[in-house]
Amino acid sequence: MAKHYSALGLAPLSTAGSSVLGGGIDIATRRPVDPVTLVRPHAAARAARFFVEKFPGRSMYAVKANPSPDLLQILWDNGITHYDTASIAEVRLVKATLPDAVCCFMHPVKSEEAIAEAYFSHDVRTFSLDSLEELDKIVRATTQQDGVAATDLTLCVRLRVSSEYAKLSLGSKFGAGPAETKALLMATRQVADALGICFHVGSQTMSPDAYTNAMERVRAAIVDAAVTVDVIDVGGGFPSAYPGMTPPPLERFFETIHRAFESLPISYSAELWAEPGRALCAEYSSVVVRVERRRGTELYINDGAYGTLFDAAHIGWKYPVQLLREPESDARDMDFSFWGPTCDDLDYMAGPFPLPADTNTGDYFEIGMLGAYGVAMRTGFNGFGTGETVMVSDEPMLSVYLHDEAADEHRGSNVVKL
Ligand SMILES: *Cc1c(COP(=O)(O)O)cnc(C)c1O
Repeated sequence: MAKHYSALGLAPLSTAGSSVLGGGIDIATRRPVDPVTLVRPHAAARAARFFVEKFPGRSMYAVKANPSPDLLQILWDNGITHYDTASIAEVRLVKATLPDAVCCFMHPVKSEEAIAEAYFSHDVRTFSLDSLEELDKIVRATTQQDGVAATDLTLCVRLRVSSEYAKLSLGSKFGAGPAETKALLMATRQVADALGICFHVGSQTMSPDAYTNAMERVRAAIVDAAVTVDVIDVGGGFPSAYPGMTPPPLERFFETIHRAFESLPISYSAELWAEPGRALCAEYSSVVVRVERRRGTELYINDGAYGTLFDAAHIGWKYPVQLLREPESDARDMDFSFWGPTCDDLDYMAGPFPLPADTNTGDYFEIGMLGAYGVAMRTGFNGFGTGETVMVSDEPMLSVYLHDEAADEHRGSNVVKL
């Protein structure tokens, strides 16, 4: 797919929040040497509003998917008040960026120091756990110096559930198995002000059935332990759109989850939470890269496995690509693979990525849908780091939110209808 580069209307990223477009840099005159990150605040805002309005409970943003402070601010401005953090550095970052935000510490294996700092310095009251050992740790770390135990904890027991519908499994590392769950729920109930149950069905889940099955596991756990449960947290896993991965509408996931939640044996005042990461930020960023060499169907580009393309290299993730050239190429598409800029053979993205057959050294192309687990994965390995960030107002190359009539009118020709 080719696109006229000036259609991007590239302008330098101004300070967070204000959008200055059409400031007049374009790729043809600037010829950026490093990859340029394009950010689309309107796309992240739309995703946040979608979850806030349509998810039948509370949506907390899973910060690891993209911890950019600009993005955190956009999500906050559009109604996301709670943040799922997994490290003390993420807690500090969120509180420094959004002092009034609520952080929940949802990593089931934490250091005692991190728990104590979160509780005593950042007002964190919600923690997840999947073992009695972690429960002891949380209790110790939140006990006052005079020995008085915390009475204001919301503790979410993480259950191990299947990742069978997810493109990226999260099923092996965390979560209490059926044999451990009863004792853990009962012990946690003893010390928690509010008791929650959480799980993660795996990232980029392609079917709502994943949540139905997980909720059945939750039901069995509640019945078995006979405890009162105050929070059901269905975790992340909500899908975005990638080539060859067109998920069902998010509304179907929400309906399925709502129905399952309503039928659980829990108190009528119980809350429903979710921890979307990918779905809130995938459409926020893309990256413009340059071809430094062509060898047959292999393109040597200036971003790769140690940059934003970690998932493309390591798990064969496919991202949409479009050539940015003027005049537009009229060559037919052919399949390319990419080599990243570093010196090792691991820095290879097999794709295939379809680009016009005459794509060559010196060309620029955009790689879309890198807002989640893309720009967040960058390292400076081998001296190849980050270029500038530019705010743009065109639509992302794919979208799970642009499927209603009103949105159609604003759609660029590059957006695939879902
Ligand atoms: C990574 C993660 C998320 C976000 O998952 P997505 O698939 O990006 O929605 C949510 N919760 C927990 C505990 C996670 O580890």
